[in-house]
Amino acid sequence: MPRIYLDHNATTPLAPEVVDRMTAVLRDEFGNPSSVHHFGQRAKAAIDDARSAVAALIGGDPSEVVFTSGGTESDNFAIRGVAEAVEPTGRRHLLSAAIEHEAVLNTFKALGRRGWATTLLSVDQTGIVSVDAIRNALTDTTALVSVMHANNEIGTIQPVAEIARLAKANGAIVHTDAVQSAGKIPVDVKALGVDLLSISAHKIYGPKGVGALWIRRGLRLQPLLTGGKHERSRRAGTENVAGIVGMGVAAQLARAKMAAEAERLAGLRDRLEEGVLRAVSGTAINGTRSPRVPNTTNISFDRVEAESLLIALDLDGIAVSTGSACSSGTLEPSHVLKAMGFPPHRTQNSIRFSLGAANTDADVDRVIADPGSGAGLMSPAGRKGPPRRRFPGTCRRPGLYGPAPIECASS
Ligand code: PLP
Repeated sequence: MPRIYLDHNATTPLAPEVVDRMTAVLRDEFGNPSSVHHFGQRAKAAIDDARSAVAALIGGDPSEVVFTSGGTESDNFAIRGVAEAVEPTGRRHLLSAAIEHEAVLNTFKALGRRGWATTLLSVDQTGIVSVDAIRNALTDTTALVSVMHANNEIGTIQPVAEIARLAKANGAIVHTDAVQSAGKIPVDVKALGVDLLSISAHKIYGPKGVGALWIRRGLRLQPLLTGGKHERSRRAGTENVAGIVGMGVAAQLARAKMAAEAERLAGLRDRLEEGVLRAVSGTAINGTRSPRVPNTTNISFDRVEAESLLIALDLDGIAVSTGSACSSGTLEPSHVLKAMGFPPHRTQNSIRFSLGAANTDADVDRVIADPGSGAGLMSPAGRKGPPRRRFPGTCRRPGLYGPAPIECASS
């Protein structure tokens, strides 16, 4: 049975061009980029090329790009780096939204425990952060506003440029997490008007464990990692040369293919969405349909539990995800859908379909025609019956996936 991967917001497969280039770098470019000799300088040149490619993807200058270990580190660096740098000024308020990724939310929580005032705004059922709510929440002591560009669970695109204008007029520094938008839609740091922007390679067909933080020239951040003078003293540690080069190739490919791929994926996504809504009663789309990144839809199912549906689809060879996190055997509702004010049956029973490069019309046809039919969850019987169906112990499923309980994190 050919498997269909519809979880590209969690991660993407490596582009073949990325594999080829990374393989060559792993084999041939073993020099330390800090070394002055030939071997080191070759590795450094490869990093510089990647830096230019990443900068081009987001409209920045290569000197403003700092490579990190991924989106999580970039978000941490932006928030903690600003907080530590501005602490002496007396600005001790951080502002963000409750629909952010855990990399932002938990960094806010950690700083809150250290005495920072933090505000996390809820949103309405469109899944868009209100510019008015930002205006009302800004204070004279707001040091940083961090609002994601596109949401990872529902795909909604946030009004970052408007928020940045307001926040900067108020003297705050502005960060955006563009992990789910870069490479999918045009991202331009100048048009957005932000000071800091996070991206991650593995969401754009690059390798895991590498990302970047764009830092507007002139902005001073306290580094997270101290050590040598790597990355212009902004991030210490010998560079992950192959990973960085892989990210550069991925950025180049994303930029070249973006317009056509966005149109293709939006067409597939819309057909999938309409097909599921038509075939299964009690379904609804979570968040506004526009503006949204082209590859994502998030659908709630009234009559089945999302975890059960996810497993049924997986058994049928279709990989999707839920925003619900399961840990220690209990199913936590999606924090994004909760922040949007949805009732429990929706926060716990939603599926994210996120499409990508390998998906075709035939994949969409198969999902619409036969989703979860192995368990009868979306079949005609499942459509009629009100009782919710659930696999026993969906968070702990030793029979299906091995003995260990599955711990989930948002992606
Ligand atoms: N921010 C968003 C919006 C994400 O979707 C993710 C990953 O799922 C991250 C940050 C974290 O990125 P990484 O997996 O590279 O640490």
